[in-house]
Amino acid sequence: MSWLAAASRIVLVVALSAALGSMYGYPREAVILALLGLIGFWLYQMQRVQVWLNGPEQSPPDAYGIWGELLARIYFHRRKNLEAQALLQSTVEYLENSFKAMRDGVVMVDKQGAIKWLNRAVEPLLGLRYPDDTGQTLTNLVRVPEFNRYFLSNDYTTPLQYVATGDKEKIYLRVEITPFGEGERLLFIRDVSGAVHMEQMRRDFVANVSHELRTPLTVISGYLGTFLINTEDLPQRYVKPLQQMDEQARRMEHLLKDLLWLSRLESEKHEDEHEFVDMRGLLQELRDELTEAYSDAGIVLDLATDQKVYGDYRQLYSAVSNLAINAIKYSPAGSPVTIGWSVQGDKCLLQVQDKGIGIDSVHIPRLTERFYRVDDSRSSATGGTGLGLAIVKHVAAVHGAQLKIESKLGEGSTFTLVFPARG
Ligand code: ADP
Repeated sequence: MSWLAAASRIVLVVALSAALGSMYGYPREAVILALLGLIGFWLYQMQRVQVWLNGPEQSPPDAYGIWGELLARIYFHRRKNLEAQALLQSTVEYLENSFKAMRDGVVMVDKQGAIKWLNRAVEPLLGLRYPDDTGQTLTNLVRVPEFNRYFLSNDYTTPLQYVATGDKEKIYLRVEITPFGEGERLLFIRDVSGAVHMEQMRRDFVANVSHELRTPLTVISGYLGTFLINTEDLPQRYVKPLQQMDEQARRMEHLLKDLLWLSRLESEKHEDEHEFVDMRGLLQELRDELTEAYSDAGIVLDLATDQKVYGDYRQLYSAVSNLAINAIKYSPAGSPVTIGWSVQGDKCLLQVQDKGIGIDSVHIPRLTERFYRVDDSRSSATGGTGLGLAIVKHVAAVHGAQLKIESKLGEGSTFTLVFPARG
């Protein structure tokens, strides 16, 4: 152990100097002199260490004993530290380079909301400049209310999509924010105009085709209806085919009606038409209509609250009507269908419950896809269009509600629209 050797060396020097001093009759002075010499030597060593530590990175100066060991250790830790720093620096550079190369815009923001770093791609999208804008508060530079509201909300579970005004045409931007570190945030901004325009074209196409098909179909079903008024006048072999044609024409009419309704729901948010909808009145009206249309349906209303929903009456009516008609269609005749309206905590629940055939759990996640059917033959027998639940899902989204589906094969299903309580 080097400290033991150093201590022994001091004892030895003191003892030797004391002995030498006694020979000349000055033992105390000799010891003091020897100790001063030792202190001087230690101060000299310390000064060398200080010079070495302050200097550029190089091997430690030669030293022996405890000093040699101390220097070797400090050198070892210093090197490890430098290696770790170099690794960190290269990782940061690697990340910065990959963010720089990304086609998506990237902005790094600190705890206070000030810009730390951004890549070139984000400059035209948000109108920022690097490095001029570093240190500036992001929300002061991006003056888009939607963007700022989203950024300050701290809830980044769903990305934000908004329209930014471009030079010639609208630009759609999608913003995703990921918090990291201690309150820092990483923003990814992507121009999704291409995808939005394609989606718009697809919707317009479906809407236009549906619209264009309506007139010829009205003519066809009009004539079919006229033929079928007096079946006695028709050759008997035509009666059945004409009836089938009439049935299919009606299905197509339903399909076109649902398609047009769905594209209307998708295309625009009619929030300016929203009002406080009296759900009690709506459900009573629906019950009356359904009891008339499906005389053997056992519809029961369970209205536990007077809560209203801020929204669109027609849309809400169509959503609940789709759920109720499904409950009737997929249940044996006369089986009870309960439509409930209640409050649970800070939510309002609209529940449509049946004791019908139920749905296997494998199908549940896909039920709201357009034209998804559990059993094709069964659905065409019940006259479904495969668009009902897609409509329900859209109406729910427009109203800030969620659609929950619970079902057990052979026991029945419960479809719940969970609305935020309001008004
Ligand atoms: P459809 O017009 O075929 O009824 P929907 O979108 O309304 O289309 O429903 C999709 C599928 O979900 C239906 O084909 C049916 O198989 C199933 N489904 C919906 N509601 C119920 C229910 N209450 N009970 C059992 N199956 C249901």
